[in-house]
Amino acid sequence: MRCPTCHATDSFHDWSGRIERLGVEISEHGRRCGGCGETLYDLPEVERQEREIAAGLVARGVRSGVEFKFLRKLAGLQANEVAALFGVRPETVSRWERGTIEFPRTAAFALGELYVHPRLTRQKLAAFGP
Ligand SMILES: [Zn+2]
Repeated sequence: MRCPTCHATDSFHDWSGRIERLGVEISEHGRRCGGCGETLYDLPEVERQEREIAAGLVARGVRSGVEFKFLRKLAGLQANEVAALFGVRPETVSRWERGTIEFPRTAAFALGELYVHPRLTRQKLAAFGP
């Protein structure tokens, strides 16, 4: 196998380590190039890392628009669905995610609940009405 970064051949070895993504330290398991240090992951590993990042964000609280968008997408929610559930306009969610305006900490908390307990949290939010 040829390294896509440094083009070395047969330079990859199994690799496990710790990395930081969105301010969350997670484990990584992949193949690392001995030539340049590039690490490649298979799709299940990428998805596992995303879940580990999400769990970390939920535990410490979503702080930025980028983190908000990441968690919303991983929860399988469209921005307009979140807007409807939170009783805000879709443009508001868009502004939160772009960092144009700050989102309330309650919105970050509710998004975390939607990720961890999707059905129950949807029911609870829907009970407040449209
Ligand atoms: Zn390389």
